[in-house]
Amino acid sequence: MNIQNYINGQFVNPIHNEWLNNYNPAKGEVYSQIPNSTIEDVEMAYKSAKSAFKKWSLTSLEERSRILIKISELLEENLQQFAEAESLDNGKPIWLAKAVDIPRAASNFRFFANAITQFASESHESVGHNAINYTLRQPIGVVGCISPWNLPLYLFSWKIAPAIAAGNCVVAKPSEVTPMTAFLLSEICIEAGLPKGVLNIVHGLGTTTGQAIVEHPGIKAISFTGGTVTGAHIAKVAAPMFKKLSLELGGKNPNIIFADCDYDDMLTTTVRSSFANQGQICLCGSRIFVEDSIYEKFKTDFVKKVKTLKVGHPSATETKVGALVSKPHLEKVLSYVKIAKGEGGKVLCGGNQLTIKGSENGYYMEPTIIEVKTDECRVNQEEIFGPVVTIMPFSSEEEVLQMANKVKYGLSATLWTNDLKRTMRMSNQLQVGIVWVNTWMMRDLRTPFGGVKDSGVGREGGFEALRFFTEPKNVCIKY
Ligand code: NDP
Repeated sequence: MNIQNYINGQFVNPIHNEWLNNYNPAKGEVYSQIPNSTIEDVEMAYKSAKSAFKKWSLTSLEERSRILIKISELLEENLQQFAEAESLDNGKPIWLAKAVDIPRAASNFRFFANAITQFASESHESVGHNAINYTLRQPIGVVGCISPWNLPLYLFSWKIAPAIAAGNCVVAKPSEVTPMTAFLLSEICIEAGLPKGVLNIVHGLGTTTGQAIVEHPGIKAISFTGGTVTGAHIAKVAAPMFKKLSLELGGKNPNIIFADCDYDDMLTTTVRSSFANQGQICLCGSRIFVEDSIYEKFKTDFVKKVKTLKVGHPSATETKVGALVSKPHLEKVLSYVKIAKGEGGKVLCGGNQLTIKGSENGYYMEPTIIEVKTDECRVNQEEIFGPVVTIMPFSSEEEVLQMANKVKYGLSATLWTNDLKRTMRMSNQLQVGIVWVNTWMMRDLRTPFGGVKDSGVGREGGFEALRFFTEPKNVCIKY
């Protein structure tokens, strides 16, 4: 099956008729072809977006909202098909795509359909000067949305929904590794009656198609989620053109466990925050710090539980951990096990590639726990983005806070404790954009989402996203 670009409301082949292989990671086999789009395809998408902009920006909020809700409903109606497609493309268990990825993509559209009807701007009366200021929030124009492979439709829709709700037209690129659900979304957009040109999806490589979007002088804002190195490169290209930028980048998140926590709840959630989606979530708690009084008990219980996680084909209902997204990624993750051993880390479980019967060429790996001697080692500092976590003990709040903050990333942190004062002290001082206390990845779409330090610039979510996708303009009237 060939995936096509979605430009000006239609499916089109890439102008140069060049194609890339798309792999099924569970089998390690090519199963479809995707456009290897070039700068010319991006130009065509840009022109289509530009010509649709005026009309779309003047379309009533009720009408924009109605179309976004229709997209959301169609996603829900086609849940099974989308979940299977996401799993086939990414390697994640089908049940996970069905329970999380696709419902979340649908709720992203529904949420921003409603949010835009509640979004308000400000007015400021200049008392004593007989003047009033009001601030218009106007759509930017044509914007670029670029997303990664780990939560393909979920993160793609997290950008597209607020962008179009706010009245912009979009040129978007999903990861070349997981393009399928973005392609299926184009079909739904047609069915939902989204006017042609409002959303244009161009498939291809980051370094060519993605780069062309970032370099395009007419694309005034870029919303990007991906790796920190790519983010830094995008910032460099976009800065001289003064583009608005939202960068959601990598993480190396601490999971801090105090002895006074609700132990069973913590243990169950920690297994999930370590290995959900094969550990390929930017929010995974990949550095586990445990208070020394419960360290040995935690170590035994955690290893025991992790050893029971079933690694297998994504379509099997009992599979808890599916395939990693690609061969190069599997190799990268495995290389960190070697690095860990080289720097004195002890592999407590896992550490190896796995062969699954019937899917011998798939990219499977055992969930891996590494006990590290120091928080400064590479496996504890660098983002691995796979089913690998480190654990080490700590003896005081000050010590763990220092270790938690001593990385270049600052996306999220999880804290397990029942001490309210400690919760407040730690939450204030953790250098991250999101703190979860006694839970993990509980999301309310109204809250600001994003990180500090090398984890990015700007926030997505709620009105933050609508602020990003609009330009404020102040009007001052003297009366
Ligand atoms: P990459 O940075 O490699 O790619 C992200 C996207 O950018 C892809 O669509 C990619 O295309 C594209 N891209 C690559 N190079 C360029 C370029 N020069 N110009 C424009 N676009 C480009 O990240 P991954 O896809 O490997 O995703 C994993 C990373 O994403 C991890 O670091 C993870 O932490 C981060 N992430 C962050 C999240 C957050 O909210 N903070 C959430 C989820 C993931 P292609 O794939 O086709 O090369």
